[in-house]
Amino acid sequence: MKPAPFEYSAPESLDETLALLADCAERDEEAKPIAGGQSLTPMLALRLAYVDRLVDLRRVAELRGAERRDGGLWIGATTTQAAVQRSPDVTAVAPLFARATPLIGHFQIRNRGTIGGSLAHADGSAEYPAVAVALDARIEVASRRGTRTIPATEFFTGFLSTELAPDELLTGVSVPAWSGRCGYAVEEFARRHGDFAIAGVAVAVALDEDARIRRCGIGLFGVGATPVRAVDAETALIGAAADEVSTTDVGHAALSGLAGVPSDLHGSADYRKRVGAALVARALGNALREARHG
Ligand SMILES: Cc1cc2nc3c(=O)[nH]c(=O)nc-3n(C[C@H](O)[C@H](O)[C@H](O)COP(=O)(O)OP(=O)(O)OC[C@H]3O[C@@H](n4cnc5c(N)ncnc54)[C@H](O)[C@@H]3O)c2cc1C
Repeated sequence: MKPAPFEYSAPESLDETLALLADCAERDEEAKPIAGGQSLTPMLALRLAYVDRLVDLRRVAELRGAERRDGGLWIGATTTQAAVQRSPDVTAVAPLFARATPLIGHFQIRNRGTIGGSLAHADGSAEYPAVAVALDARIEVASRRGTRTIPATEFFTGFLSTELAPDELLTGVSVPAWSGRCGYAVEEFARRHGDFAIAGVAVAVALDEDARIRRCGIGLFGVGATPVRAVDAETALIGAAADEVSTTDVGHAALSGLAGVPSDLHGSADYRKRVGAALVARALGNALREARHG
């Protein structure tokens, strides 16, 4: 199938992009930014999505790159997933993003797909949204009306839905640096390498000088319409001695009471919960080991 006809613009700057989006919103025209096109192009071709105008972000330099900023990390929206994986700054400050990247599709997809596209597409089975939630990342958004920053935990509102208004552009993601001895792990189960996860988890932990858990982030994916933060399991871990944690119990606690877990041809809700609990236990064990021993 081919997409329905649309107009195409390739702005050269952020200001030009925001002006285009604002003009389209005022005229009630459906405009969509296109970044890597790895999700949007097939949706247009299958006519699961329609647009009046595609706004190509490739020439907008302000949206590209990853760098240390304000004591943390900033990653521009159009930074490709492959560049995220290669970036020494990402590896130093927010290694979960780099470690999750090889699990996204195949290298051809990661060479074109962007971090902003992945976050804006907001697939509940995708890796980056769960990583953003686990790390307490903040989503930076701009429009001609101004800029705002949205905590990742509030950005994802439902199936393929976000807080973004039609005239708003996701410009980047910022991650505060985690202090102390930190450990990170991401685990997923998929039928084949490169498929979306049936269930997955991203975990970050930080220990204090007594090897007690000072901070913890657990982001689940594949188990809901949005990424899910296992807040109760995280809270129960705060203050616990790292070498006394029962990771199996935490896995059960994170998944057992979860509502809205999908059942489909890839697995029932119960199956996803069991797999998810095992993955949380494994990832938490690995993250704690890394935090204790490096
Ligand atoms: C075979 C295959 C397997 C895949 N497997 C995985 C996987 O395992 N895990 C995974 O996470 N993903 C997977 N993907 C999706 C891939 O990661 C996409 O790259 C990603 O979802 C979207 O990024 P993109 O840059 O290509 O965005 P696009 O396809 O260009 O855009 C996606 C959506 O985001 C919007 N958008 C893009 N950029 C912005 C912006 N800056 N501001 C506001 N809105 C914006 C677009 O308008 C569109 O609605 C797979 C894709 C394919 C084709």
